[in-house]
Formats: sequence, C-alpha cells, structure tokens
Amino acid sequence: MGESLVGRKFLDGLEVAPQQRLFPDVNVVKIGGQSICDRGKKALPALVREIAAAKKKHKMLITTGGGTRSRHIYSIGLELGMPTGIIARFGSSISEQNALLVATLLSSQGGIKIGHDEVTKLSIYFAQGSLPVMHGMPPYDYFALPTSRSRIPVHRTDVGTLILADLIGAKSCIFVKDERGLHTEDPKKNSAAAFIPEISVAELLARDLEDLIIERPCLEILQKSEVIDRLQIVNGLEPGSLTRALAGEHVGTIIYRV
Ligand code: ADP
Ligand code: MG
Repeated sequence: MGESLVGRKFLDGLEVAPQQRLFPDVNVVKIGGQSICDRGKKALPALVREIAAAKKKHKMLITTGGGTRSRHIYSIGLELGMPTGIIARFGSSISEQNALLVATLLSSQGGIKIGHDEVTKLSIYFAQGSLPVMHGMPPYDYFALPTSRSRIPVHRTDVGTLILADLIGAKSCIFVKDERGLHTEDPKKNSAAAFIPEISVAELLARDLEDLIIERPCLEILQKSEVIDRLQIVNGLEPGSLTRALAGEHVGTIIYRV
C-alpha cells in the first residue's frame, strides 16, 4: 500500500489475475470515416444491409470514424494554433455525427447510438436485439497527449476501437475501410504497392513503414493486449468481406500478436 506504483521491481513482481473478458462473443466493427462514411450513398447502404443480415448470427458493437470533416476542422484548428486537446475534442464531435448517421440508418434493425458510459449496459442491448453504435474517438478529449510535431492527436478512432475491443475482451476487432487491407505503401499513392495478407505486429513495427492503413499506436496496443490477439482490416466496398470476416474467414489483412 505504501508503493509509489512506478517502482520497476514492484511492478515486475505484482501478482495480477488474468484479464476478465466481459463480452467474449461480441465483435467490435469500426466503420471508417473517410474510407466509408464519407462516401455516403455509394458505400453506406450496402454495408448497412450487410450488417443487418449479419446481426442474425453475430453480436456486433459498431464504432465510427470521423473522416474528411475531422481533417477539415483539424486543419483550421492547427492553422489557428489550437492545442492538441481542442483538436481531439473536434474529432470526437465529428465521429459522433457519423455514429448518429450509422445508428439512424440501422434504426429499423435495432440500431441505437450509445455513449462511452453505456459499455456496461451492452448485455441489455444485446438481449433486446439492439445494434449499439458508438463513436470511435477515445474520451481523452481535452486531455489528449500533446504530440511534439503536429499537434494532431495520435489516439483517434482506430485506437478508440481497439481499446474498446480490449476493454470488453471482444471476439474480434474488424476495421472496415476502402482498401483490400494493408499494403507496403498507400495503394492510393502507388498502385504497385504489394498487399500484405497477414503480418505479426512485431514484424510490422520493425518494418517501420512510411504510411499505414491503421493508426500507428494500434500496433503497440495490440502487442500489449492480454485478450485481443489480432485485428483484421477488410474492404467495405467489396460486398461480403465483412460477413466473411465475422465468420472467421481470412479476408483482408490480419495483424496478429505472437
Ligand atoms: P478510416 O476511414 O477508417 O479513418 P483512413 O482513411 O484513415 O481510414 O485510412 C485508410 C486509408 O489509409 C486507405 O484508404 C489508404 O489509402 C491509406 N493507407 C495509407 N497507408 C496504407 C498502407 N500501407 N496500406 C494500405 N492503405 C494505406
Ligand atoms: Mg483514419
């Protein structure tokens, strides 16, 4: 009880019970902001139909990204000297707009927009046949960690989604974006970039790629997780990809922890 809680020997010797998995049958699914939501009618209705059909077999907790509108307010905020915490708060409001959009599109299928505090009520929502949709930004908001270079918060909606999956000990953590998966480079900038179907998080960290399809801190979070051993990135523009991933198939890219 008298410990500082930062002593190395103390932390190394601490006995902890294995992490409880609160909702081991729930799949956490992030719908990309820029990659999916911003495409509106061209991408969302088909994906929403796929989610509605998958609901009969799979429990899902949906999260949403912010996309281009986040980037817009980030650039105005940065131009005007806003601190990281203000920029992060902007990002939360925008991803919340997309959660409202997706929950509304899913309303006839039980879609309900929930907030962070509702995580402990998930069992009620699933018992009622609801499809909870939450915004993906982690709630650091004004307390987002300052970053040395850009002042863009490093923990955004991919990070929030993965931490949520860790928190509930989810069955899977699936990111629905607009590319087949991870490539050696951004395929939008170089069409010759090679597709990477699976890679360990350690190898991906060692490769130190110039750009990634997922926010960088996700790699360390996955590496440290006790309950999540992989994340999967699938193409939401390709019908059936999400359904196959929910069924445990290897579509897209799997980044795994060994
Ligand atoms: P979200 O909409 O989920 O926030 P982002 O738009 O932030 O997704 O990230 C997905 C995008 O990342 C892809 O559309 C792709 O153009 C880009 N990207 C950057 N680097 C890579 C890479 N190494 N492999 C694949 N895609 C990449
Ligand atoms: Mg993103």
